Amino acid sequence: MTQASTHYDVIIIGSGAGGGTLTFRLAASGKKILLLERGDYLRREAENWSTKAVNQDGRYNTKEVWRDKRGEALHPHTNYFVGGNTKFYGAALFRFRSEDFGEVAHHGGLSPAWPISYDELEPYYSQAETLYSVHGNRGEDPTEPHASSPYPYAAVSHEPRIQQLSDDLAALGCKPFHVPLGVKLDEKNPRKSPCIRCATCDGHPCLVNAKSDTQICAIEPALECSNVTLLTNAYVEKLATSSSGREITTVRVKRHGELEIYTANVVVVACGAINSAALLLRSASSKHPRGLGNGSDIVGRHYMGHVNSVMMAISKCPNPTVFQKTLGINDFYFGSKEWQHPMGHISFVGKLDADTLRAGAPTIAPGWTLDLMARHSLDFWLTSEDLPDPENRVSLDRDGQIVLSYQPNNEEGHSRLIAKLKDLLKGSTRCSVHGHECHQGLFSRNLYAAQRIPLAGVAHQNGTIRFGDDPKTSVLDRNCCSHEVSNLYVVDGSFFPSSAAVNPALTIMANALRVGDHILERLS
Ligand SMILES: Cc1cc2nc3c(=O)[nH]c(=O)nc-3n(C[C@H](O)[C@H](O)[C@H](O)COP(=O)(O)OP(=O)(O)OC[C@H]3O[C@@H](n4cnc5c(N)ncnc54)[C@H](O)[C@@H]3O)c2cc1C
Ligand code: SF4
Repeated sequence: MTQASTHYDVIIIGSGAGGGTLTFRLAASGKKILLLERGDYLRREAENWSTKAVNQDGRYNTKEVWRDKRGEALHPHTNYFVGGNTKFYGAALFRFRSEDFGEVAHHGGLSPAWPISYDELEPYYSQAETLYSVHGNRGEDPTEPHASSPYPYAAVSHEPRIQQLSDDLAALGCKPFHVPLGVKLDEKNPRKSPCIRCATCDGHPCLVNAKSDTQICAIEPALECSNVTLLTNAYVEKLATSSSGREITTVRVKRHGELEIYTANVVVVACGAINSAALLLRSASSKHPRGLGNGSDIVGRHYMGHVNSVMMAISKCPNPTVFQKTLGINDFYFGSKEWQHPMGHISFVGKLDADTLRAGAPTIAPGWTLDLMARHSLDFWLTSEDLPDPENRVSLDRDGQIVLSYQPNNEEGHSRLIAKLKDLLKGSTRCSVHGHECHQGLFSRNLYAAQRIPLAGVAHQNGTIRFGDDPKTSVLDRNCCSHEVSNLYVVDGSFFPSSAAVNPALTIMANALRVGDHILERLS
C-alpha cells in the first residue's frame, strides 16, 4: 500500500461531462485538485472512425459484465476513458426546457420538480455553451427556454436531403430547428476548420480532436494549471469516513494493481450515474450500513435512461447526407392538440451504414439489402421521458458486481411520438421523382450491438443519487452535497430527479459549473 504523499483541496472522481467540467471550473482557483480517472487516454488511431471497429467489434466498450434483475449478463454500452462518454457522444447540447424543472403530468405518472429552477441554472447553461463551443440558432425551437446570450456560433447547416426534409416538415406546419451541436466546425473557412464534417461523429471518438468533448474543452485547459493533477488508470474502490461518519477521510484507489490512498477536504464523485451509485454502495460501513450517505435508502434508486428508439425511414430516393444530426423536431415535446401529455423529442443519429446496421440486425425491408437500406434511410432518434421508479435501480450482487434492474415506463407517449413521425413522413410531398410513393416505410432498430439486451444502452443514464431539499426523499442537497456526509458531492448525471426528454450532457456540464462556484465559495 502506498500512502499519499500529499493532501488535496478537492479530489474529483471521474473525468466525464460532470467531473471534467468541474475540474475546469476549479482549476483557475489555485486550489490543489486531483482528478482520478479509471480509464486511460483514448488512443488516436484509424479505428476511431471505423464503424466496424466501433459498432460491430465494440472496440472501446468496457469489457465489464453487469447483471440485470434476473441475473442475466449485461454488456453495457459505455466507455471508460479520459473525457468519459463525451468522447463518444453526438455532441447534441440541449438545455432542458424550463417546464422540465417543475412537476409535469405525464400519461404514465408525475415527473417530479427539481429543487432549483431553470432560472438558477440559466447563467451556467450559457457558460457551458461557451466552454463547449455550441453552434445553434436561438428562436427556432418552439419549446426552447429563454437564454441570456446567443449561441456562441451559428447553427451547423443542413445538407440538401435534410434541408428538403426541414422544408417538408415546415410545409406540414411543424417547426423543425437546427440541433445545437458542439463541433468545432467553421463552414465559412473549410480549409482551416478543425472539424471536417465526417459521418463518424455520433458514437465515435473524433480522430482530429474537433468534437467538443470534455477532454478537449475542459480537461486539457485545466491541466495547464500546475495545481491540477490527473491520474489515469486510477479506479476508486471505496470512500472511507471518520469514526463519526460525517466526513470522508480517505479515497482508496486501485492503480496498476496497487492500492493507493488519497485525502482531501472535499471529495466529488462523478463516475456516471451507474458507477457513482455503485461506488457509494461499495463504501458501506458501520456508520453507513446501506452505503455511503444512504440513510434514506435512495442511492441507486430511480435509475432513468430515457425511452429511446432509432427509426429508419426508407425512401426510394437515396440519402447521401454525411453529417446527418443537424435537424430536430420538438413540436410534440409537451403533447399535441389531440393528446395533452408529453411525447418527446425527435432528431437524428449519425448516418447509419451497413456495418453499423449489421451490429444491430434490424428488420430487413423486403427486397432490400442492409447496404441499400443504409443508403436510402433517414435515421431518426426519438427520445421520451422515463419516470423515476424506486424499483428501477442500481445495486450490487454478492461479488460486488453491478446489477441494473429496470422496467420501462411511460411508454405510451413514445408510441404516439413514433406514430406522429410516421404521419409526418407520409405527408411529405417534396420528392419530384416519386411523389408520395417515395417513402417506403419506417423500421425500428436497436442501435446497440447487444440488441437482445436493450438495457445495455445506458448512454443517457441518470437519476440514481437525486438531489432535493428533503433528506428523506433525496441523497444530495440543492448544491449536490450529501445530506449526511459534509464533504461529499456528486456532479454527474446521478443528481437528476427527472430525466426530461432531450439529451442530458449540457445540463450535467452546466450543473457542474454551478456546483463548482459553490465549492469555491466553501473553500474560500
Ligand atoms: C454513443 C453516445 C452518444 C451520446 N450522445 C449524446 C448527445 O448527443 N448529447 C448528449 O447530451 N449526451 C449524449 N450522450 C450522453 C453523454 O455522453 C452523457 O450524458 C455524459 O457523458 C454523462 O456525463 P457523466 O459525467 O455523468 O458521466 P461520464 O461522462 O460517463 O463520465 C464518468 C467517468 O467516470 C469514470 N469512472 C467510472 N467509475 C470510476 C471509478 N470507480 N473510479 C474512477 N473513475 C471512474 C469513467 O471512466 C468516466 O470517464 C451520449 C452517450 C453515448 C455513449
Ligand atoms: S471531424 Fe467533426 S464531424 Fe467528424 S468526428 Fe470530428 S467533430 Fe465530429
